[in-house]
Amino acid sequence: MTEFSTRVENVSISGIREVFEAAGDDDINLGLGQPDFPTPEHASQAAVEAIESHEADPYTGNKGIPALREAIAGAYDREYGLSVDPGDVIATAGGSEALHLTLEAHVDAGEAVIFPDPGFVAYDALTTIAGGDPNPVPVREDLTLDPATVEDAITEDTAAFIVNSPGNPTGAVASEDDVREFARIADEHDVLCISDEVYEHIVFDGEHHSPMAYAETDNVVTVSACSKTYSMTGWRLGWVTGSNRRIERMLRVHQYVQACASAPAQYAAEAALSGPQDPVEEMVATFEERRDLVVDGLEDAGLSVPTPSGAFYAMPEVPEGWCDEVLDRGVVVVPGEAFGENGRGYARLSYATGTEELKEALEIIDAATRAVR
Ligand code: PLP
Repeated sequence: MTEFSTRVENVSISGIREVFEAAGDDDINLGLGQPDFPTPEHASQAAVEAIESHEADPYTGNKGIPALREAIAGAYDREYGLSVDPGDVIATAGGSEALHLTLEAHVDAGEAVIFPDPGFVAYDALTTIAGGDPNPVPVREDLTLDPATVEDAITEDTAAFIVNSPGNPTGAVASEDDVREFARIADEHDVLCISDEVYEHIVFDGEHHSPMAYAETDNVVTVSACSKTYSMTGWRLGWVTGSNRRIERMLRVHQYVQACASAPAQYAAEAALSGPQDPVEEMVATFEERRDLVVDGLEDAGLSVPTPSGAFYAMPEVPEGWCDEVLDRGVVVVPGEAFGENGRGYARLSYATGTEELKEALEIIDAATRAVR
């Protein structure tokens, strides 16, 4: 008998956590993956009302309250003209649980899951927890994922590939052509495309496209969340949508590990999705200004950085020892290798931080870069 499962023994602790543990209280933190804006008032208020009226006391249905699933389906229609059946949506504990359910329901022991490297830290870990084999693939020089790289990596053991646009840690946004290609690959190779769209509304250049719009089979499952769009990371509310037969399989996992997403959070999410969207527009406009500030600041410091078109991260190429030097001078950044082997030689900077702090951080970065050059 083993003391711990091999699957879990093979999961390492996120490199991001190590960075935070090394950070001091007065440091400027460019490491965070959450917007520095409050949750929209009408969303918080809806949760307060549901709590005070005791409507949010009991378990909800496993998939979530109908009003929320209708609001999610309504948002797909409003934003992208996509028809989603509210019955084919599961409200989850954040995008994280949605990814977990998708992988648990589709990956068998020894099957591979392809995902971008550098990429979101959970892809490797959740694939391993599901018993699968992580297959990280490099991104292009502009940090986007090349569909040809994905197609070349597919073998008969591939269960799924993950697309994440806008991307964490890169901020890269996939072009419409690439997204069409991802849909074609899912169709032709009969492999599941898991589209992680948690940053779908934080796009500055071009538009967000979902492979769900282009696939002819049901081989696309879409994951999203209120976390980033509505600055609701702590509420833990996301969702997954796909064909009915896929959702029913995922529900078998969700009903036992979670029963239902937190009820107060479901009421807040319903209000966030169906209420006024101007808080989102204001936040995105601010992120775009900061994106420009950060890219200019990094380039002035002599660093090369692909201009991120979405999310709230920039990923410059940095010289050896740069991250330690910047941290020693009081700015927290995440070394690129925390997001995969191909992230080595890069760093992730989050600009979900006040503009004045960002300006100060950029001055420190400028001095630190001169010191290590
Ligand atoms: N997917 C990506 C790409 C993310 O960056 C994150 C969070 O940082 C998640 C999923 C998980 O989101 P949530 O906080 O909704 O679980």
